[in-house]
Amino acid sequence: MIKLEKISKHYQSAGGQVVHKVLNDISLEIRKGDSIAIVGPSGCGKSTLLNLMGTLDLPTSGKIIFDGVEINTLDDKKLSALRNKRIGFVFQMHHLLPQLNVLENILLPALANSSKNQLKLTSEKAIQLLSEVGLKAHLYKFPGQLSGGECQRVAVVRALINEPDIILADEPTGSLDYESAEQIGNLLVDLQTRKNMALMIVTHSLDLANKMKTRYSLLNGQLNQLK
Ligand code: ADP
Ligand code: MG
Repeated sequence: MIKLEKISKHYQSAGGQVVHKVLNDISLEIRKGDSIAIVGPSGCGKSTLLNLMGTLDLPTSGKIIFDGVEINTLDDKKLSALRNKRIGFVFQMHHLLPQLNVLENILLPALANSSKNQLKLTSEKAIQLLSEVGLKAHLYKFPGQLSGGECQRVAVVRALINEPDIILADEPTGSLDYESAEQIGNLLVDLQTRKNMALMIVTHSLDLANKMKTRYSLLNGQLNQLK
């Protein structure tokens, strides 16, 4: 589904004198049903790699191929359509809007471009997903009335609302206590299996990484598969 071919990402200092080689010649393929963890210390390039996979950034060299299409051949409109429909993002911070309730937060991306009828269907889907993650009772609550773990579950549902083929999660448990982190990790794995999506998580938590089928370490710009 997504293929990275010899991806490098280098950042230049302000004057352009110093080049920081964050990723070097990384190749990786992700298929439906895969669950992958990328582990490594802070600053090793995990977020950079995930952002490239999510088409949020372009590599310095190498190709990113999504279902056979090289993404740098797509214009902005096609690229954002691909991102919206096919990829779900979960970040360390839930980024829910405090002035909207749980249901509204999830429907927000659909509000602008949907007919009344579509919105009704999306709303039913949101309620179904919220029930699946144990939040049926909190539909009309505001983020400030929920725990960190509950907010992150809402963020997971928001990532799922367009039925993506892949979830990309950047330190999804990084701001949670042990128990909530366990719950979110198990929830992501459960959803990945039941909905036959791909899941790629970057994390420095080995607990979370161990829930994935495949694990890589990212060090000195290179991926190495872990046993
Ligand atoms: P991680 O997520 O593993 O903590 P990042 O991918 O965020 O690491 O960052 C990897 C390295 O690249 C860090 O040294 C960071 O300072 C640098 N970096 C990230 N984004 C930029 C940028 N936009 N410009 C310059 N350097 C960057
Ligand atoms: Mg990061």
